[in-house]
Amino acid sequence: LRHLVLVLGDQLDAESAVFDDFDPGRDAVWMAEVAHEATQVWSTQPRIAIFLAAMRRFRDRLRARGWTVHYRALDEHDFPTLEAALAADLVALTPAKLLAVKPGEWRLAQSLPATCAAAGLLWIEYPDRHFYCDADDFADWTGNRKDYRLEFFYRWLRKREGVLMDAGKPVGGQWNFDADNRGSFDRRGPGLLPAPRAFAPDAGTREVLALVRERFAAHPGRLDAFDWPLDADQAREALDDFIAHRLPLFGRYQDAIWQGEPWLYHSRLSAAMNLKLLSPRVVVAAAVREWREGRAPIEAVEGFVRQILGWREFVRGVYWQRMPGFLDENALDAQASLPAFYWTGDTDMACLRDALRQTLDLGYAHHIQRLMVTGLFALLLGVRPREVHAWYLAVYVDAVEWVELPNVLGMSQYADGGRMTSKPYAASGAYIQKMSNHCAGCRFRPGESTGERACPFTTLYWDFLARHEARFARLPRTALQWKNLGRKPAHELAAIRAQAETLRAALAPDSRSSHA
Ligand code: FAD
Repeated sequence: LRHLVLVLGDQLDAESAVFDDFDPGRDAVWMAEVAHEATQVWSTQPRIAIFLAAMRRFRDRLRARGWTVHYRALDEHDFPTLEAALAADLVALTPAKLLAVKPGEWRLAQSLPATCAAAGLLWIEYPDRHFYCDADDFADWTGNRKDYRLEFFYRWLRKREGVLMDAGKPVGGQWNFDADNRGSFDRRGPGLLPAPRAFAPDAGTREVLALVRERFAAHPGRLDAFDWPLDADQAREALDDFIAHRLPLFGRYQDAIWQGEPWLYHSRLSAAMNLKLLSPRVVVAAAVREWREGRAPIEAVEGFVRQILGWREFVRGVYWQRMPGFLDENALDAQASLPAFYWTGDTDMACLRDALRQTLDLGYAHHIQRLMVTGLFALLLGVRPREVHAWYLAVYVDAVEWVELPNVLGMSQYADGGRMTSKPYAASGAYIQKMSNHCAGCRFRPGESTGERACPFTTLYWDFLARHEARFARLPRTALQWKNLGRKPAHELAAIRAQAETLRAALAPDSRSSHA
């Protein structure tokens, strides 16, 4: 065997650089399903299933090309870790060299080359062509900057890539249309929404679903609605469906939330992109074409491009710059535990209940639910960032560490002390009321901060401001928000803080009633 090509569960790209020189007569591919990857984070059933089902499809696709794939299926081996399985197979298969695309996760980027070295073998690493910007490019951009801001990175990359640019200027005369991206629905709601293209499980996927139900029975989440795209063809269909039916309104309703409507105008493409079934360049080009041909407005297309060419590349750059220390950051010294209801959705807060149940049932929540419902509550309560991170990494079908960790620790929990965002995403129940219809059907009132009906978000919001006054009250970007705290009479603030303490005690894991 000349080359053994290692393919990880999130590297399912048949056009990847590692295959450029593949010779089916002399080379083989190696893939493995390992339970440890699903249990070291307490993965939900949808997350485990999407990885396994997509990996098996990819294996079959390569085999259909006539390639040899050594595939370790979960139910056929007992190796405790990926490294152990690889070490054993390096001995058995005796390749001259091991080839791999750079792993997307810091831990594996250390341990897999080490496993290879221990077997006395050369580890040949290929760049991940899937991204616009690699770690060196990002370091060039950051230069001596201490804090990184998306907006500047995004402009730099758009210029470099010539995306939505005309003669060196942004099309439409401005870099971003953020102000047009904050719409919410009126009382009548979103009306009839275009149902996203669903992919009914085929026989192979049904086998995976049965395996996950049996082998990971104790893991949270449900599989009844599992309909994700699982290979490159399906991912392309999902993209076409989004572009034709949801992109034109994506921008306007990007931040809106509506009870029982998980998808709204979102693309549902994150998992397909993160598993590398779909290239972000293809996605961006398809969206830009819609604008050029007059089928989608600039605020929708620019807003969508900003998420992919902007945020997605930005958080990856930050991840590689800040690991491994990133994992331990806790700038706000948050020390509470994650409430137990994050694993069940069993809470009276309507917005959290909906976001959590949908997360567990589908492995999906859209950005504003992640940032301004589940993330916000953890921030305000002061949950240890590492626990918040462990939850986010476990629950979503698109959860891979390079994108999840900066979003959680940096953007949502401010654990990095503002290296990625200029201020914490702290808000009261009033924000959720403005962006959703949840409050109308909730037993809590977003305008009240004390008493029986006080919205816990609002109580905890004022408590958060008070706890972190010294840090933020004098910073230019946050002074205004903290100024309102100064207007609260002392006795009122004392009552709010007492109620926050009671809430915190009730939500602590050793408390009898973990319901808010
Ligand atoms: P759309 O709303 O249709 O957006 C289009 C695409 O833009 C997404 O598919 C995604 O690739 C990209 N994108 C949008 N926002 C971001 C962002 N903030 N960072 C990176 N890419 C972005 N995304 C993940 O892929 N995996 C995660 O584990 C993850 N964890 C998150 C945790 C928190 C606390 C927050 C606030 C955000 C997280 N995101 C994560 C980003 C974002 O919420 C998801 O990418 C998005 O909700 C996926 O749904 P969609 O494909 O329908 O996205």
